Amino acid sequence: MAVVIVGSGLAGYTAAREFRKLDRQTPLVVVSRDAAGFYSKPMLSNALAGRKTAATLVMKPAAKMAEELGATVRAHTEVRQIDTSAQAVLLADGKSIAYRDLVLALGADPIRLPLEGDGADDVRSVNDLDDYARFAERLDGVSQVTILGAGLIGCEFANDLLTRGIVPTVIDPAAWPLSRLLPAAAGAWLRERLEAAGVRFLFAAAASRIDCSARGYTLGLNDGSRIEAGLVLSAIGLRPRTAVARDAGLAVQRGIVTDRRLATSAAHVYALGDCAEVEGLTLPYVMPIMQQARALAATLAGTPSAVLYPAMPVVVKTPACPTVVCPPPVGAGGEWSVQSDAQALEARFHGVDGRLLGFALMGSATAQRQALAAQVPGLLR
Ligand SMILES: Cc1cc2nc3c(=O)[nH]c(=O)nc-3n(C[C@H](O)[C@H](O)[C@H](O)COP(=O)(O)OP(=O)(O)OC[C@H]3O[C@@H](n4cnc5c(N)ncnc54)[C@H](O)[C@@H]3O)c2cc1C
Repeated sequence: MAVVIVGSGLAGYTAAREFRKLDRQTPLVVVSRDAAGFYSKPMLSNALAGRKTAATLVMKPAAKMAEELGATVRAHTEVRQIDTSAQAVLLADGKSIAYRDLVLALGADPIRLPLEGDGADDVRSVNDLDDYARFAERLDGVSQVTILGAGLIGCEFANDLLTRGIVPTVIDPAAWPLSRLLPAAAGAWLRERLEAAGVRFLFAAAASRIDCSARGYTLGLNDGSRIEAGLVLSAIGLRPRTAVARDAGLAVQRGIVTDRRLATSAAHVYALGDCAEVEGLTLPYVMPIMQQARALAATLAGTPSAVLYPAMPVVVKTPACPTVVCPPPVGAGGEWSVQSDAQALEARFHGVDGRLLGFALMGSATAQRQALAAQVPGLLR
């Protein structure tokens, strides 16, 4: 019986690749509701600078992936249900696929703000190739884009839009960019450089309504003010895709709950990537996926293996201000100390016992990334 992987994103395909390094015999099926081409999702937020289209972002089409992996890749195929007792997934067309082991690599959905106004449904988010295609198409003739959310993805898109001569205005209820990852002083340093490059920020602000206007959209903000935009992009966060798992009776909290072997609460069902909550941690980044895929592949190939999380710094793709963040664990006690000059900023988070638990580096200080990462204890050791 086959190992069936649902999802052809970085999680699904990386798990498939790692599995094939260990086992060339077991039938492998990758099922995806999208076109199942292999692409690097992080490139979506710096694709404008590289003049990429959704088509040129695809590194390998589904057929090539199938050939390389020795797998059956079923594109445009949606899994609707999981029958854990029969060990089968049920598809939208009414057919089913039996599994020996099932891997859920379902990703996450963009969170939508509840906005009023007749323009609210036009708000874009970019979380896959199809989203990017629609977004890029809408940019023609647009000179101003408003971005909801000054987190990692919002700041990256803002920087990327500048390369197309578009003025981005980024709105966030917090007081500085990347507020969940950076201390205030580091946020101010980043803000200054992005503003110098042409990004506009509105902090302590939130959109409450979006109405269509002659030149695009009028956003009504919570302080009563209004701003105009040619297009509105939402980048306020992601929510793990859990519905199929929840309906099948699997334990779900924020994400699909797994132990350190990526095993869900149902026998022979595993989860990884943005949809998974591994030992209470949902980490929607590439490096955790690489760690998860290696451990899961070994488990599926017969050697039960626990995932390890070393310190995993994230590179923020804002060329106007090179930035690396390695945030401390959520809720960790301690404090930030920040040193900076005109060229570099180094922020260190020390725990109450004095240990380095996280950091942020900007400008030329990003060269310190590996040296500092080596000092930070991993989240799962
Ligand atoms: C714009 C952007 C920039 C980013 N930049 C960075 C970065 O610089 N560094 C970093 O570390 N991380 C970055 N990330 C995060 C990183 O890209 C993600 O963590 C990662 O790509 C998630 O991969 P995934 O396979 O879990 O999910 P996805 O890539 O979303 O894949 C989910 C797959 O599941 C399929 N699927 C879902 N439901 C079903 C179903 N019911 N039936 C069949 N198929 C289904 C989908 O079709 C899709 O193929 C970025 C994310 C975004 C959106």
